[in-house]
Amino acid sequence: MRSPAKTSLAAGFLLAACATLPARRDPLETTVAGVAVGSAPERNAPASIEGRPLRHWVFGSGLPVTLVFAGIHGSERSSVELAVRFLEVLDGDPDSLGRGMIVVAPLVNPDGYERGERWNARGVDLNRNFPAWNWDGSSRGGPEPASEPETRFVLRLLERFRPTRIVSVHAPLACVNWDGPARRLARALSQESGLPRREDIGYPTPGSFGSYAGRQLGIPTITLELPERDRVAPERLPRLVRTLLLAHHGARAPLL
Ligand SMILES: [Zn+2]
Repeated sequence: MRSPAKTSLAAGFLLAACATLPARRDPLETTVAGVAVGSAPERNAPASIEGRPLRHWVFGSGLPVTLVFAGIHGSERSSVELAVRFLEVLDGDPDSLGRGMIVVAPLVNPDGYERGERWNARGVDLNRNFPAWNWDGSSRGGPEPASEPETRFVLRLLERFRPTRIVSVHAPLACVNWDGPARRLARALSQESGLPRREDIGYPTPGSFGSYAGRQLGIPTITLELPERDRVAPERLPRLVRTLLLAHHGARAPLL
């Protein structure tokens, strides 16, 4: 039997899809763990290079505002699985939110996800394409900062919701990395997740989201690197969901 959360999320997509494609499944739809994370593009809705919708969900209102996004590297499928599970938990148990707002974008790079590739459909590494001071176009960072629609989608989420805290989910480095004033938050999330805290992942990341949001804008930004690239180990999933919830609830605590 499907969970109420799944049914509710799927029903929303069904309604959206029915508005434009009544007779057949949307060929651009992406399904993760049985939940559609994309459906027929809405008019004026943000879309990937190949036209896949770039979606986000909003839970609650007011402050603090936590942004969680995943799948910016399409090959890191476990990150999308965790974000979808997080959506289901928030949808099925609104009390888990506490106060404030959580914004979830579970699949930032749907074209890469469909191909099982890190890059978007133009071969750009979106996590090197942000307009940070250190953008240099190396490491497939694109022809110019924010040249890609998927990057601009994330930038619009920042502008629109002005998150006070951000978690970007990746894999498979198995650590909690941070940028900006998030050292204590990283320690708390490390304890909750069981993943070690690492300030430096060991290679330069010009134009990364962490450089832009964490170090340039000063928003506490966590990069949660999951251990598995494809599927989250089932026994680990509840703990990781609690880690994302703590990232939000911990927003009440002093940052440093
Ligand atoms: Zn990644």
